Amino acid sequence: MGIIVKNIFHFLKGCWAIIRGRSLPDEECQELRELASAYLELDLSPDIKEQLDRHLKLCQGCSGFIESLHRTLDLLRGMPKETAPAEIRQNILRQIKQK
Ligand SMILES: [Zn+2]
Repeated sequence: MGIIVKNIFHFLKGCWAIIRGRSLPDEECQELRELASAYLELDLSPDIKEQLDRHLKLCQGCSGFIESLHRTLDLLRGMPKETAPAEIRQNILRQIKQK
């Protein structure tokens, strides 16, 4: 019994991958991820935002991605802003200039 259930599960997982693959091309996921921070900052034209919203409703991977990004940004915003000591800042700037 257990094996049959396992096989059915694998079969359904395969079907889901095929359906998802057809309805949601990878390029769309990639585009969404590139625009994700603009999306969260509400810095997109309504057309594009609508397109991304539609994608998010269908794509679990991307909606999870946006959700965790959203949470991370919230956490960062909640943190007190601190300035690094001058010595460290100069060190970082020097290393950037060297590259
Ligand atoms: Zn996606």
